[in-house]
Amino acid sequence: MSISRNLAQINERIRAAAEKAGRDPATVRLVAVSKTRPAADIITAFQAGQTIFGENYIQELVPKLAEVQAAVQWHVIGHLQSNKVKYIAGRVAMIHSVDRMSLAREIDRQWGICGKICDVLIQVNISGERTKSGITEEGAIQLVRECALLPNIRVKGLMTLPPFFDDPDAARPCFAELRRLSEAVAAQQITAVDMGELSMGMSGDFEAAIQEGATLVRVGTAIFGNR
Ligand SMILES: *Cc1c(COP(=O)(O)O)cnc(C)c1O
Repeated sequence: MSISRNLAQINERIRAAAEKAGRDPATVRLVAVSKTRPAADIITAFQAGQTIFGENYIQELVPKLAEVQAAVQWHVIGHLQSNKVKYIAGRVAMIHSVDRMSLAREIDRQWGICGKICDVLIQVNISGERTKSGITEEGAIQLVRECALLPNIRVKGLMTLPPFFDDPDAARPCFAELRRLSEAVAAQQITAVDMGELSMGMSGDFEAAIQEGATLVRVGTAIFGNR
């Protein structure tokens, strides 16, 4: 299967899932997760109409920023160390994985140096299982409140990475819980905070995520093949 054919299929599945959920398909955006994939694959996908690409590793993203000249939008979706932020400052459109104040402060500082504002999502560890990135549900509102005070970042919503990768039905309660949390945060009406984005769902479960309100689905394997 080719990248462009895979993309067409995924976009069709997104459309169908949105319609089944009674949602406008235009409210769901596809993040093509290109970690471990060469720049050539990204360019192929871009030429097939894909614009948003998600990367996990800064050491891999930085060379790609130079190699890919096309007007793609880069999203950082993986765990991010504060000392790596300076390498991507002003160069990515969104960071999905803000889960602590020290990281938020460094993003704010580095984007401030560039004179730009960074869109971020707060990553929440919904299941509480495993040691994995993400603020606890209980801590999320406080983190959003503190992030809202930083001038060079803008909170756009929430992200989660559930621990069940194989069973879409098992992940679904996590997706539903993230949506409930997002509504609870929105109800606080925190100044400068927007809860419009819900980043959830991957190759195995993006349709379930769309049923539960995902606005950004992060799909790698189903587009680019096995890593
Ligand atoms: C790798 C990754 C994805 C994509 O996973 P696939 O199963 O290949 O679609 C999505 N989100 C995050 C945070 C990832 O690390």
